[in-house]
Amino acid sequence: MLRQVAQGVWVHESEFCQSNAVVVLGRDGVLLIDAGIHGDEMTCLANDLSDVGQAVVAGFSTHPHWDHLLWHASLGGAPRYGTALCATTARDRLAGGIDPVRLGIPEDVPLELLGNITGLPEATARIPWDGPVVRILEHQAHAPGHAALLIEEHRVLVAGDMLSDVLIPMLDVNGTVDPVEDYLAALRLLESVAGGVDIVVPGHGSVGGSDQVQARIDQDRAYVLALRNGQVPADPRVGPSAKPGWEWVSDVHEGQLQRLAQ
Ligand SMILES: [Zn+2]
Repeated sequence: MLRQVAQGVWVHESEFCQSNAVVVLGRDGVLLIDAGIHGDEMTCLANDLSDVGQAVVAGFSTHPHWDHLLWHASLGGAPRYGTALCATTARDRLAGGIDPVRLGIPEDVPLELLGNITGLPEATARIPWDGPVVRILEHQAHAPGHAALLIEEHRVLVAGDMLSDVLIPMLDVNGTVDPVEDYLAALRLLESVAGGVDIVVPGHGSVGGSDQVQARIDQDRAYVLALRNGQVPADPRVGPSAKPGWEWVSDVHEGQLQRLAQ
């Protein structure tokens, strides 16, 4: 079910890890960001759109992790974009095939159209489509070529896998020389636009209002700084205060702590 979160912007939430697909209304159709997870959910989204006379005219993947690279035939054949680095990373990682079991991908997730991303030229500032300006804020936190998207006109920030109320910052610990600094730099980038944001949509978790934008930046920064200092952060997303169903995040936290201590 599509839920409106701002003028011209809707969210379709998945049962899988509270993943958020985002729909932005354009002049001749909609932009679909991180399309969804389960096949029946993407079909439901396609039906919801056709019920209101809309078709998908562009797609975008925020970063090259499988749960942000999916698509379903019912959504049509619109170009699907990502940053140049997102597209090449997805292509390289998928080239040898993937192991759905190892990656924890549910059985009914359609993988036929996984990762068919067109990389936008480096430093592209906005998504090429006929609709409200969607600014691309590329950074290197969490995954190579990760982009947050700012829909300035509607004051919405689509954060990808940052600024979540349920997931801690997950660092790209195998990918870069200084994953902590990459994460802090990305938080500074998001903070630089926070004054123009009333709604933040994380890749997983709850949509936040204007009081949540800076609060989540601060919370993510506090977590990352604690991690760098080898401390146990006072963070409601890990430990006994984690939301029901999200206890596994504490294991991710322990893994990151160990990895950075090496
Ligand atoms: Zn991710």
